[in-house]
Amino acid sequence: MRFCVLASGSKGNSTYLETGSTRILIDAGLSGKEIERRLAAIQIDPASLSAIIVTHEHHDHICGVGVLSRRFQLPVFANEATLLAGGKTLQKLSQWQPFVTGDIFSFQDVSIHPFLISHDAADPVGFCIEDGNHSLGYCTDTGKISHLMHHRLSRCQGLILESNHDPVMLQSGPYPEYLKQRVRSNVGHLPNHEAAQFIDSLKHEHLRHVVLAHISDTNNHPDLVWAAVRGAMPDNMPNISLACQEQVGEVVSLVVGED
Ligand SMILES: [Zn+2]
Ligand SMILES: [Zn+2]
Repeated sequence: MRFCVLASGSKGNSTYLETGSTRILIDAGLSGKEIERRLAAIQIDPASLSAIIVTHEHHDHICGVGVLSRRFQLPVFANEATLLAGGKTLQKLSQWQPFVTGDIFSFQDVSIHPFLISHDAADPVGFCIEDGNHSLGYCTDTGKISHLMHHRLSRCQGLILESNHDPVMLQSGPYPEYLKQRVRSNVGHLPNHEAAQFIDSLKHEHLRHVVLAHISDTNNHPDLVWAAVRGAMPDNMPNISLACQEQVGEVVSLVVGED
């Protein structure tokens, strides 16, 4: 299993995941052209993609979904509420494959478990994606952590988790008050210290790599993300990298036998 965060942040999110013969995008929240450019940067031909799976209908997660689906005849996996809420942006899809939040479904050689997260969207989800050897957990855009999320992500070898903002920067930053309240609410985005505590609570001997994602350009700074992580895990930190908005992240490989 290999994965790479192509972009992450409030201006667009997309993650590439490859397992055996299956090549999936988790969200496509940049223009189709930009996603193709970022795939090319990791030597992936977009025509070789198998499907797109969608977390929720916010623009920064779906704005390239429709065009890529039509251009490369990609099935799009999304729950019904997300499809309805995002319909204007998605427009006609090559193929819609509905899933039900909480129900595991299979696609080619992977099984995908969508689980409920806490966000102000119609039916937002995170994913746990397994290929028989490894599993990747994907969880961004959540205002709080639930027992369910902890349970779903507790055995993953790879994790992509939100570390959205520093509460002090958010408070003193330029966002209007209504937006500050939205971001820090239970259905907004996760602050650094809660993300760091969540990672600490998920640590296990087979956890190989954590990517911290959806980091705010306005209300956060990489130094503060690292400070929160070090604060929560002073001596026993797993491999962690930070995803960013402008650049393709590192390609992380989970290799059979190495864990
Ligand atoms: Zn988002
Ligand atoms: Zn969102």
